[in-house]
Amino acid sequence: MRFFDESMQSQFEEKMLIENGLRDALRHDQLELYYQPKVAADNGCITSLEVLMRWKHPVLGTVPPNKFIRVAEEVGIIYEIDRWGLFKACERAKEIERELNNPIAVSVNISAKHFHQEHILDILKQALAESKLDPSRLKIEITESVFNKDLKGIISVMDQIQQLGVSVSIDDFGIGYSSLNQLLHLPINEVKLDRQFITNIHHDSKKASVVKMIVDLAKTLQLNVVAEGIETKEESQILNELGCHELQGYYYCKPLPEQEIINFLKGKQV
Ligand code: C2E
Ligand code: MG
Ligand code: MG
Ligand code: MG
Repeated sequence: MRFFDESMQSQFEEKMLIENGLRDALRHDQLELYYQPKVAADNGCITSLEVLMRWKHPVLGTVPPNKFIRVAEEVGIIYEIDRWGLFKACERAKEIERELNNPIAVSVNISAKHFHQEHILDILKQALAESKLDPSRLKIEITESVFNKDLKGIISVMDQIQQLGVSVSIDDFGIGYSSLNQLLHLPINEVKLDRQFITNIHHDSKKASVVKMIVDLAKTLQLNVVAEGIETKEESQILNELGCHELQGYYYCKPLPEQEIINFLKGKQV
């Protein structure tokens, strides 16, 4: 039998701090959305924006999602956080469209946890209705961990999301639970290759072979293929050569707050 030791105590306290802090974050408007472009691999034109959450903590400063999403999932507050993010993202996408005088598509990250509940469908419908965002301009990104249980239920939820006209993307593809075989059966529109496959790909022929195989299969299945985490020109060139449709990473643009991304996009229009 294990006893509740000191390290468990401090882990518990940290979790409580984040959990309580996150409740405040929601109440006091401390969460903020950042935006990172995806570009067409062949000509570098911006195709859409991925929405990435930040927590503007009064003491800790800007807290990245890696520091709070997992805890939020463990304590269950993720449902409220993602709901807030989805509503806000749809609303802001409409506003960015207005600012640019051009339609823009957004991808929103949603915790895999939501896919075990049909409730996500009501949230999506509400967010679309309130924002009046065209559903074809919205994509949901979920990580592969969604496939670790109840595959049937998840497929049904994904199916219904697509029926709303919203696209589904598998994020961080290749490192988690999904096998290539699953790609055949999943109602998805896009795969995003994890950054691990991208980093230094120009110096690693094995990596390049694996990526080529995934890209070719995904294309056979008529899926959109995105490579994330592109940091160099060499990486961007090889991923274009391997057939990826879209690229994303610091090489093009890091995630930016709303006004900065609007300025960035306006700069690209002229
Ligand atoms: P992700 O969706 O796979 O997003 C990519 C992460 O890589 C982002 O980190 C982004 O800032 C970072 N990134 C982009 N380009 C580069 C690059 O060239 N090099 C490197 N080293 N990193 C790059 P971020 O913003 O810290 O987000 C981390 C993860 O948190 C996301 O991974 C996503 O899974 C999750 N996340 C973000 N926002 C939300 C949200 O609103 N809800 C939920 N449930 N999860 C979110
Ligand atoms: Mg993502
Ligand atoms: Mg990713
Ligand atoms: Mg990731």
